[in-house]
Amino acid sequence: MRFVIAYEGLLNVASLNLERAAEIRKMPVAFLKEDGEVEFVSEVPAISGVMLKHWHFRNLVELSREDNDSLCLFCNRLEAIRIPPRSVQDYYNTSYGGTEKELIEKCVGEDVHGFLVTEEKESLRRESCVRFSWAIGLPRFSDEYRRIMIVQHTRNISKIPLDAPEELRRLQMPYPRPYASDFYGFVSIADLSRIGISYTDNLEGIDQNTRKMRQKNTILAYGRMLQGEIGANLSRSLPASTPLTVFLAASKRGAIPAPIHPIYPSYLSESTKLIENAAELFRDELRVRIYAPYIDQSTKNHIISLLGEDPFVDDPYTGLRHIIDFLGL
Ligand SMILES: [Zn+2]
Repeated sequence: MRFVIAYEGLLNVASLNLERAAEIRKMPVAFLKEDGEVEFVSEVPAISGVMLKHWHFRNLVELSREDNDSLCLFCNRLEAIRIPPRSVQDYYNTSYGGTEKELIEKCVGEDVHGFLVTEEKESLRRESCVRFSWAIGLPRFSDEYRRIMIVQHTRNISKIPLDAPEELRRLQMPYPRPYASDFYGFVSIADLSRIGISYTDNLEGIDQNTRKMRQKNTILAYGRMLQGEIGANLSRSLPASTPLTVFLAASKRGAIPAPIHPIYPSYLSESTKLIENAAELFRDELRVRIYAPYIDQSTKNHIISLLGEDPFVDDPYTGLRHIIDFLGL
């Protein structure tokens, strides 16, 4: 079982890519224009895959807690330390177990998002079952207005007595924050079949009901990301956000590839074609759902003819529900 997603949306006035004090992430990108010509863009704003994966992790932990799934000390605190060294485990009087099977039984975080044991002579590693691209400012839009505004915020203290310690005066200060507005896109893959299976214990699995619950929550954890909860500084600059297109697909045997990244203009119909043909080649059962309120009618008709059914939904959440029903989760 595999679930894949491509998101394209407008995220206005945010500092989602602020990963360190004042460092806004930007990346050079190369992309293909509609006519096949390649263009290099020196810098577009970009939110790292690490950041996206972190927000998926947080959503997964919160959903899992609601369902009384097992969580380790750090994941339960929304801290993605997978796995702390033994001295730290001892300090907190907690234990993670020794085998991959024990580790994934004890925590959905280690199971779905992977881990690395870093003791001196011992090494045990589990690859993440979810993968994220970077969220990239779409290079097909002109960068004429693409800029980052530095805003000086100020913290004021209403009264500073003459005999107050100097530190109090220093607490009153201006501090800069960069903000940007852009169209962003990202893709992600969730290998649902790998959840709850230990690869270093002869493919032994955890309890079947827990496994299904984790597979479902892994899909649901994408839900809140669709409104821009995917980066830094959300408490003061939750993006003025709207999703433009959300492409969702799942297959039972898991043979489908990742969708084409939304930086490519025709990604919706190209992704549909690619995924439909892969499913046919591998004799895989497929379901596609697309939220795309602004798509033109001819592209829409083309996609419907490729799939032989109408995959369009009025909102992304209905699409996620159809995917979960299709997978029997
Ligand atoms: Zn954990």
